[in-house]
Amino acid sequence: MREYKSIGLKLTPQRLAILEYLKDNREHPSAADIYAAVSEKFPTMSFATVYNTLKALKDREHVLELAIDGGKRRYDPDTVRHHHLICTECRKIEDIYVEFDLRVPEVELKGFEISANQVDFYGVCPECRKIGAKGRRVVSRRNGKAEKAGPM
Ligand code: ZN
Ligand code: MN
Repeated sequence: MREYKSIGLKLTPQRLAILEYLKDNREHPSAADIYAAVSEKFPTMSFATVYNTLKALKDREHVLELAIDGGKRRYDPDTVRHHHLICTECRKIEDIYVEFDLRVPEVELKGFEISANQVDFYGVCPECRKIGAKGRRVVSRRNGKAEKAGPM
């Protein structure tokens, strides 16, 4: 995150609390997560304040808004371009910072010259895979699709 002074936002104590919560936060919290955490310290804080602050920060490119968790928007204070790993079970989001080859086949480029990319990888995190190994969730080897084990 950049210096708060460079944001161009009037920093009320409530906004500052939101910024402090987001700073170095690698959880990719939703607006509801941020509201739950910050309203502990500021019981008078409204959800609208969180929402409006997030929108202002997003407009100023101070946070990234990620639309990778279904309808729930998640926020990332690291605006340096990076990739994400998303757990389809618990919705955890992890960062990938290494560069790797993501060349689009020439025939698919449609004349575009590519300048950047950002890829979302979906899968099951180690914690959820452990639960899966205990039999609560099994992956069929026949079609590779996840199936729920046990009584429906
Ligand atoms: Zn998970
Ligand atoms: Mn991220």
